[in-house]
Amino acid sequence: MNHSLKPWNTFGIERSANTIVRAETEQQLLSAWQTAVAAGEPTLILGEGSNVLFLNDYAGTVILNRIMGIEVSETPDAWRLHVGAGENWHQLVQFTLQHAMPGLENLALIPGCAGSSPIQNIGAYGVELQRVCEYVDCIELETGRKQRLSAADLLLRCIFRFSNWAVLCNGCFFSSGASVRTVFVHLL
Ligand SMILES: Cc1cc2nc3c(=O)[nH]c(=O)nc-3n(C[C@H](O)[C@H](O)[C@H](O)COP(=O)(O)OP(=O)(O)OC[C@H]3O[C@@H](n4cnc5c(N)ncnc54)[C@H](O)[C@@H]3O)c2cc1C
Repeated sequence: MNHSLKPWNTFGIERSANTIVRAETEQQLLSAWQTAVAAGEPTLILGEGSNVLFLNDYAGTVILNRIMGIEVSETPDAWRLHVGAGENWHQLVQFTLQHAMPGLENLALIPGCAGSSPIQNIGAYGVELQRVCEYVDCIELETGRKQRLSAADLLLRCIFRFSNWAVLCNGCFFSSGASVRTVFVHLL
């Protein structure tokens, strides 16, 4: 229990975790989760830690999702982005504006990672993520199964319905408890 969580939460709270793993690929993320589970430890997927408050040390493995990459494709009526969950959200917004792709500008300056944005359906100035997000690619960590959830799927599973991710995690999409079982890896 000697790995500091201070750099990984925006409050800068001095707490620690048994293990902190930086996952840059889906396979690294899955392996880190499986190793922790095999050791009987709880796991926590973390983006940039702007929506968590560590009250105690975390007796488990914290996995930092740092799956990066922004792919752009253009259709006659839209630009479509395929974004790694570890990308910083505001930098993504800036990227789109620098490349003259309007649509995300109201969501500028929201802290955190792209992969965390569906959890509470980030929103600002009258625009919510659900207006611009077509899908989220997820990995079911117990099985390694990859699944693409459409915006309609996300609504059915209550993602996008609440602005309170705690309600979401306890009630709907995640299985409950301290360990997350599904992780978002790509979206938009
Ligand atoms: C100063 C400030 C201003 C803010 N302004 C706004 C605002 O205007 N609008 C708004 O909507 N929000 C706002 N927020 C809230 C915050 O920006 C969002 O909740 C953001 O999406 C959190 O991202 P994060 O990467 O820091 O998430 P974290 O705090 O790292 O994680 C939050 C939750 O998501 C889970 N999670 C993270 N990544 C994944 C993943 N890849 N797969 C599955 N689960 C995951 C974590 O386990 C945790 O339960 C603000 C926060 C701060 C501190």
